Amino acid sequence: MILMLSITVAFQFCFVFVSCDHGDKNVIIDLSYSYDEETLFWPGSDRFVHTIVQRGPTGVFWYESNKFEMGEHSGTHIDAPSHFSEGKQRIHDIPKEHLFGPGIKVDISEKASINSDALLEVEDLKSWEEENGIIPNGAILMVFTDWGRFYPNRTAYFGSDRNDSFTDENGKSLLHFPGVSPEAANWLIINRDVVGVGIDTPSIDYGPSLTFSAHVKLYEQNIYGLENVANLDQLPTTGSTVYALPIKIKDGSGAPVRLFAVADDVGTNSAESMAFSLFILQLDCLLLLMMSV
Ligand SMILES: [Zn+2]
Repeated sequence: MILMLSITVAFQFCFVFVSCDHGDKNVIIDLSYSYDEETLFWPGSDRFVHTIVQRGPTGVFWYESNKFEMGEHSGTHIDAPSHFSEGKQRIHDIPKEHLFGPGIKVDISEKASINSDALLEVEDLKSWEEENGIIPNGAILMVFTDWGRFYPNRTAYFGSDRNDSFTDENGKSLLHFPGVSPEAANWLIINRDVVGVGIDTPSIDYGPSLTFSAHVKLYEQNIYGLENVANLDQLPTTGSTVYALPIKIKDGSGAPVRLFAVADDVGTNSAESMAFSLFILQLDCLLLLMMSV
């Protein structure tokens, strides 16, 4: 009987140990680049400038205070829908409940590795859903092109070393990087209910675009954009919550955004824990029954 009691207790300890182990597996993924002198900005826009105003001892205490200046659309940032659509939400209008949601990663890195002008197409979304299920309502959909490996090398990241203009003297785009096709944007608008679309390139529309059609289509529906998203290689395909928290600029067309994802427990979920718990309970009952006879 003592042996059986010991086994029961051992099972309980084992259960507690496994439960604690599972509970510690949330991972936070930083999806923002730091702002510094290397921060990439759209050609013709303004660079990030950080000026030290005070840094040093005052005689009573140490004191630091600085100022910064930048374009709204530099580094990791959010595009408010008003950026490309008249009358749509500006930064302070974006509903708080749209600033976080299920993180979805659609990987087009393979075709982007052989074509810098690759596009997320409707087919990519459909095949993603065949493997992973329907894109949930309220999702923040991230397009992974693996362009982050070039950041902050302007020439490799933009496909041009010019920081003053994105077009040549004939009005043709100088830029080359992957983006979202207008058709894919349209498919998302008609068929799904995402709150934002992000990408690890300088723009939702691909480099050669002069019409910025994906911007226009998404933003007309008050779906915001996230550009220059960092570390998308670390974001799981599903099973995360993405937080996109811009500074609240009244009437801003865009803003720096603190972007991160919290990945759910890896390899377990509440249903699994519940099933395991029931299994241990049944085992305990069985042992107690055996002890009583
Ligand atoms: Zn932007």
